[in-house]
Amino acid sequence: MAEFNLTLNEDQLQLKDWVHQFAKDVMRLNAEEWDDREEFPWPIVQEAAKIGLYGIDFMMNAMGDPSGLTLPVAIEELFWGDAGLGMAIMGSGLAAAGISGNGTPEQVIEWVPQCYGTADDVKLGAFCVSEPDAGSDVSSLRTRAVYDEANDEWVLNGTKAWITNGGIADVHVVVAAVDPALKGRGQASFIVPPGTKGLSQGQKYKKHGIKASHTAEVVLDDVRVPGRCLLGGKEKLDAKLARAREAGRTGEAQPAMKTFEATRPSVGAQALGIARGAYEIALDYAKERVAFGKPIIMNQAIAFKLANMATQIDAARLLIWRAAWLGRNGGFKNGEGSMSKYYASETAVRVTEEAIQILGGYGYTREYHVERMHRDAKIHTIFEGTSEIQQLVIARAISGLRIE
Ligand SMILES: Cc1cc2nc3c(=O)[nH]c(=O)nc-3n(C[C@H](O)[C@H](O)[C@H](O)COP(=O)(O)OP(=O)(O)OC[C@H]3O[C@@H](n4cnc5c(N)ncnc54)[C@H](O)[C@@H]3O)c2cc1C
Repeated sequence: MAEFNLTLNEDQLQLKDWVHQFAKDVMRLNAEEWDDREEFPWPIVQEAAKIGLYGIDFMMNAMGDPSGLTLPVAIEELFWGDAGLGMAIMGSGLAAAGISGNGTPEQVIEWVPQCYGTADDVKLGAFCVSEPDAGSDVSSLRTRAVYDEANDEWVLNGTKAWITNGGIADVHVVVAAVDPALKGRGQASFIVPPGTKGLSQGQKYKKHGIKASHTAEVVLDDVRVPGRCLLGGKEKLDAKLARAREAGRTGEAQPAMKTFEATRPSVGAQALGIARGAYEIALDYAKERVAFGKPIIMNQAIAFKLANMATQIDAARLLIWRAAWLGRNGGFKNGEGSMSKYYASETAVRVTEEAIQILGGYGYTREYHVERMHRDAKIHTIFEGTSEIQQLVIARAISGLRIE
């Protein structure tokens, strides 16, 4: 077990500088353009792949770090650069996490690299859980998976909503109900390989923020996938279903929930990067902007806002690093993953709003980045579990009660 340590090692410091350089030179400079275009930023993701920032090797290196801190450190820098472009670079990671969390070693080896492709031929992954009538309530998924024993194939039908990289991904990981009566315990995750017939993109959403990230519906119409595409394998699923039927409930987390809990510190790190970016712009601005004959920071009303922003950003980072370390070293006990995501995302919304306030009229326009950062921050209180759902997870963890 690695010791929890707030001092980054030499490799982590180098990685932080390297990612920061890319965030500053490529992402910040191109952020406004891709926010306006509201399209998937292929050239930026390809550039990230060329330098090794997007790809399986980068993810393996980050995931292999025993302290758990490498990934949040890198993500904070990326999202400091820009959240929309950052999501375009990080979006495949959720599919990769879904495969790693639920797949057999053979499935991980076969499918995770296909979520990224190569530097010359970039591919994407998508993790498809949410549905029009089931976002927070993932136990109510309507997408069905039915086993066709004669052909050893699974047949998937349903509609997935708000899917990052949905329809443009090469590998879609789909969570579906095998036995709807068992709610979350009757679900399983399936790989839909590239080019599979019956999977199509539905509407592409126009969004409030992270506009460079592609978000769309995924329609599954009699999608047939080979038996080997069931993550974890049939034997394990059959045993799980049998236990659930016998006991009424097994207490096991459903596949999607396991993935989300493990990725929450990373989502917190995204929000943290946005918050720090906005705070730095506001601090610089407050020192330079003169009103009533002195820099505005010389007013406590402004200086105290900045003091609060700095405090909340540091507190968020400490929660994220602790959660990332726990995730790698012994697991969460009191909903620490949810605490980190909840606090960091609420902080990002508050800090970016305060940044706009500090920049006044300039903050409200697109001349500075803070207006976009505020729009981008908001998604973090919604996706991968809303703030209310994080509070629910924490409340259940600390009380041991099934609070509704
Ligand atoms: C840009 C974007 C990208 C996304 N990417 C993905 C993706 O890649 N894959 C994927 O599967 N999904 C994705 N999502 C979906 C996202 O995870 C869901 O939107 C989110 O979980 C909320 O679900 P919902 O929208 O159905 O809201 P609802 O569940 O309907 O919630 C509505 C409101 O009610 C509150 N609420 C609901 N239940 C409770 C309760 N029990 N107690 C208290 N309050 C409650 C919520 O907190 C929220 O405020 C994405 C969404 C967006 C917008």
